[in-house]
Amino acid sequence: MCLASLSNGPTWLRRPPSAQPAWPVSRLVCGATQTISCRRDDSRRFNQRGIALLRTRAFAAGVAQCVRRSRGLVTMTETAKSLDASLAVHCAALAACRACKLPADVLPIVSCAVRPKAMLVGQAPGQVEAAGGKPFAGRAGKTLFRWLERAGIDEETARQRIYIAAVTRCYPGPSPSGRGDRVPSPAEQDNCSVWLERELQLIRPRVLIPVGRLAIARFLPPNMPLDEIIGRGFEAEHAGGTSLVIPLPHPSGASSWIHQGNHPKLLDRALSKIGSELQKLGIRRGRSAA
Ligand code: SF4
Repeated sequence: MCLASLSNGPTWLRRPPSAQPAWPVSRLVCGATQTISCRRDDSRRFNQRGIALLRTRAFAAGVAQCVRRSRGLVTMTETAKSLDASLAVHCAALAACRACKLPADVLPIVSCAVRPKAMLVGQAPGQVEAAGGKPFAGRAGKTLFRWLERAGIDEETARQRIYIAAVTRCYPGPSPSGRGDRVPSPAEQDNCSVWLERELQLIRPRVLIPVGRLAIARFLPPNMPLDEIIGRGFEAEHAGGTSLVIPLPHPSGASSWIHQGNHPKLLDRALSKIGSELQKLGIRRGRSAA
């Protein structure tokens, strides 16, 4: 659906005559690019009601790429290109990536989220994920989705509404020590960072949940102790703009952090924060359809 099909008074734009928007809402032909401007004193309403709604609907319709302010004008540039379509192209390219020259049967794991507004970034897939092609499908995933349940989001909703990415997307194989999986090499992390950056640019997530130290270090200063960051939210800049980053510890049984001292309380605090932030985005239990 494009904005052209909404221009005859879609319910989400209809208001009583006195509350008609001062900004022009005009037809947008699919495939076209269009600029909509309004006066500065309208910008607030435009932002709160116009852009918020337009962006929500527009992403569904495949429009609304950026918002720019200059000389008292608020300008929204729209392009008729859908987020889901862009993600589909992105995921197809990602699925074909062999940059790290890993064994032929090791394939990148991709997310199936629809119109995501939030992202979760893990470390790397494990053996179960590699076998099933689904992120967080193993034991650590079960724990993670139990945690999200506590935050008010069931697994189905989480998989559909939260884009699940990772620092690297291919199973790195077992650790040489024989305990757990190998930590992806700096070269592999570097190779794979282009995929994450592209996803951040496409999705521009409002909420970002890095899971485990490797993922947390992508967005927050490295070497910050988990005790100081779990349970808190941070504004962080990245390739796709700014997001509220709410880190989680790694849910794998290999991490003993979550069982020590006051850490269960810190985890509870983080989950409650995630729950309320995702709820603001309309992501909550039973809302798997975007
Ligand atoms: S880990 Fe990332 S960069 Fe390396 S082959 Fe897999 S998808 Fe490509």
